[in-house]
Amino acid sequence: MNPHPKMQGALPPDEASRHFTPLIQPDLFQLYSRRAARLHALAEGHDHAAYLHWAARVTEAQATVLPDAGACGPLAAGAIAHAGRCIALLDRLIERLAHDIPAPAAPHLAALRGLAAAERLAAAQALAAGRFDAVPAAIAPLLWAALSLQCATAARAAPVPADGTAEPPACPVCGTAPVASLIQTGAHHGMRYLHCPLCESAWHMVRAKCSNCGSAADLDYFSFDTAEATVRAESCGVCRGYLKVVSLERDPHAEAVADDLATLALDDAVAAEGFQRTGFNPFALPG
Ligand SMILES: [Zn+2]
Ligand SMILES: [Zn+2]
Repeated sequence: MNPHPKMQGALPPDEASRHFTPLIQPDLFQLYSRRAARLHALAEGHDHAAYLHWAARVTEAQATVLPDAGACGPLAAGAIAHAGRCIALLDRLIERLAHDIPAPAAPHLAALRGLAAAERLAAAQALAAGRFDAVPAAIAPLLWAALSLQCATAARAAPVPADGTAEPPACPVCGTAPVASLIQTGAHHGMRYLHCPLCESAWHMVRAKCSNCGSAADLDYFSFDTAEATVRAESCGVCRGYLKVVSLERDPHAEAVADDLATLALDDAVAAEGFQRTGFNPFALPG
């Protein structure tokens, strides 16, 4: 691993003054399609190809089931899980994935199918409350996929206006910790947005500070290959936290969830340096 200390510390010169959108909510069908394609592409030759392909299949199923998510009440992950709407979506996802299921994933679907409705609901409520330890790792990502689909749909039905100056460490819409930062291109060229793994919103944060504690005093960047790597881990010596930064400038096909999931080996290396991850990936939930 090559540490590249402080090489990205400076803001693009015009970021502070440029007009920007504090909150981005990408179109869900396009987002899921892009994520699935990226996961399949990153799986080629990868040590964990089977899991990346499976994550892509789950994401494709989210895109297919999207019209069933429908509108729902005010956005609160716990409330949505309590209402059980995501359980109906989970059934639709399972139905979708049951066709042509890869052998390693079959036990996961069987485990979910074996759960009574009340047990599924309890598991969804545990995930919504951040009690990841309470849910078996084999079924958590699929449950999360259903919960996320419902939350993301609700978030778009009644978007919460973000205060562009606040730059919070957690999602301003649903309060979930980010999966990664994404350096944008296009209208928001060069700007950093943190991506929410639950409601799929992205919120702006300047690049010159820690996304967790806000300090700019001791940032380092780690990657496996060059200083120009698409995915780097941004660590903070003040709070000892880190989160990855994924650059669309460096690879226009990059995607926060997919590129983060394909680089979990980088997490191991940064954790070995004594840093703790400050967010999580929906396909590699904590606990
Ligand atoms: Zn969110
Ligand atoms: Zn920090």
